[in-house]
Amino acid sequence: MVIVMDVAEIRSRIDADVARRADTLLDVSHDIHAHPELNFEERHAHDALCAALADAGLDVEEHAFGLDTAFAARVGTEGPVIAVLCEYDALPEIGHACGHNVIAAAGLGAGLAAAALADELGGRLLILGTPAEEGGGGKVLMAREGAFDGVDAAMMIHPADGDLLSMDTIAIHQVEVSYSGQEAHAAAHPELGRNALDAAVLGYTNIAALRQHILPDERIHGIFTDGGQKPNIVPGHAAAIWYVRSPDLASLEPLKARVMACLSAGATAAACGMDHHWNDPPYADMIDNAAMLESFVAHAAAFGRVHTAPTSRTHVVGSTDMGNVSYLVPSIHPMIRVAPKGVSIHTPEFTRYAGGAEGDAAVIDGARSMAATIVEMWSDPVRVDAAHSEHQAATEGDHPPVM
Ligand SMILES: [Zn+2]
Ligand SMILES: [Zn+2]
Repeated sequence: MVIVMDVAEIRSRIDADVARRADTLLDVSHDIHAHPELNFEERHAHDALCAALADAGLDVEEHAFGLDTAFAARVGTEGPVIAVLCEYDALPEIGHACGHNVIAAAGLGAGLAAAALADELGGRLLILGTPAEEGGGGKVLMAREGAFDGVDAAMMIHPADGDLLSMDTIAIHQVEVSYSGQEAHAAAHPELGRNALDAAVLGYTNIAALRQHILPDERIHGIFTDGGQKPNIVPGHAAAIWYVRSPDLASLEPLKARVMACLSAGATAAACGMDHHWNDPPYADMIDNAAMLESFVAHAAAFGRVHTAPTSRTHVVGSTDMGNVSYLVPSIHPMIRVAPKGVSIHTPEFTRYAGGAEGDAAVIDGARSMAATIVEMWSDPVRVDAAHSEHQAATEGDHPPVM
């Protein structure tokens, strides 16, 4: 069935729907912002979003796909299945410095506005609550349980310091490293000690040297999580967490090997043992779907927000489990301005903007633009086919598994 959509009319109906719900959407955004929760602990956000969906008359599956803080709401009985994703986890100490409260409220608004049109336009909608983006890989765990089976396209927006078509996403894998040495009195018998902190520090300095000789779009960064107990005890234990990032999962593998060589050399030099654990799962790079982005950008512009291609001066480099989703189904992850240029995500200053007027504007614009994109995907089988063909071409070949 091909429905000829009067774009201007549909946009004005979406605009009116989002305006009518604006107070609810912003209440949800502010509520999540005021209750920052870490990976897999987002019970307050889960409950607030599920309640808002249920209040609007949608059937909500709480604790979906085996995760306590995931949810799913489904609308419609026929037509393309378009998923809109809500993230809502926060960061330690600095709260919603990645602005996931804005992602959640915009996804909620887009879902509710599109849901109101689903039967009329013959489309199906999947509103997904996806926990633990900041390192837990919630979307990957949900995908393993079938969250994206039968989905034709998936979308979300992400806050930034500008309106951009995409994030410069690179693949990432996290490794936890622990060192074991031998405690001794640091003054009385240092010769009996084997210093696990030395092992960790030497590993760190080896990686600092390595960083001069990697690709410009690769990143390696770590912190110490255990550096001993007291200066007069030679540390018998030390630990660190490292993030290793490279353009895609294939190029990540040789970089991971070089990182491990640096770390284990530190342990060897300090005569200590070392154990490591690569946290499951790695995040893939993001394949941005041009057919979907074209639709999103046109609608966003009609609502007064111009998204541009990232440049080396405006881009946001990072990693997301939406990358893994993008290998499964056609996907977009456009960035929406929530803070002035130069205010980086993952800073306390960004946290303030995410809960302020600019965050609120992004909720409304993100909701309207995504709702219009969902509706256009429902109404335009040619665009859905184009998104699928493009996705097939981008993912065929020897890509490593992302799940
Ligand atoms: Zn983040
Ligand atoms: Zn984020």
